[in-house]
Amino acid sequence: MKRRGLLLVVCGPSGVGKGTICKALADKNAEIFLSVSVTTRKPRNAEVDGVSYHFKTEEEFKEMIRHDELFEWAVYCNNYYGTPKKYIMEMLQRGQDVVLEIDVQGALKVKEHFSEGVFIFVLPPSMEELKKRIEGRGTETKESIVERLKRAGQELKLTDAFQYIIVNDELDHSVKTLEAIIIAEKCRSERNQEIIKGVLENDISVH
Ligand code: 5GP
Repeated sequence: MKRRGLLLVVCGPSGVGKGTICKALADKNAEIFLSVSVTTRKPRNAEVDGVSYHFKTEEEFKEMIRHDELFEWAVYCNNYYGTPKKYIMEMLQRGQDVVLEIDVQGALKVKEHFSEGVFIFVLPPSMEELKKRIEGRGTETKESIVERLKRAGQELKLTDAFQYIIVNDELDHSVKTLEAIIIAEKCRSERNQEIIKGVLENDISVH
């Protein structure tokens, strides 16, 4: 029997390395699909339209909101970010697991209307290390770094809304932890009701 896919919502402050963890997870597991968000942020150097993000104008983004094409959306440091709805719903229906790498506001909105999702927060080992990682990326202006760190402080206060915490100290270990979470979540009894029903229907002891 084909199970519906898992929706994994991976959050954490900018620069914590959640994108790297999610990409490594998808590279190792063919059944995992990474959602590509829509944003009004300008592309960074190596970012490719349709791969890193779908880059849109504010007008185009607002048009998507009006047409109810987004699963969730949020404003982050003066730019809009959102998850296209149609594609992820199709993937989940097909039994494919979908990863959303989004900010905390977006995750809280998803939790309201999709509580069967798995909500994971990636923590930095320390705020000093987070600052080093954002600066090391070399993609942000001084103001943007300050704003992102301020935002990180606010996001860290909301970790209670998440079921799992991964401290991203070492990439391999973080990916293995995420894989363990996925395995455990797939074994939850509430996700296996159809399978239990199927086994009971074929119960030879009652015939
Ligand atoms: P960045 O500009 O560094 O690529 O992303 C800034 C923040 O926006 C990150 O925390 C990232 O996870 C979040 N983000 C990316 N895509 C989405 C999305 O579709 N929805 C929401 N709510 N946040 C997103």
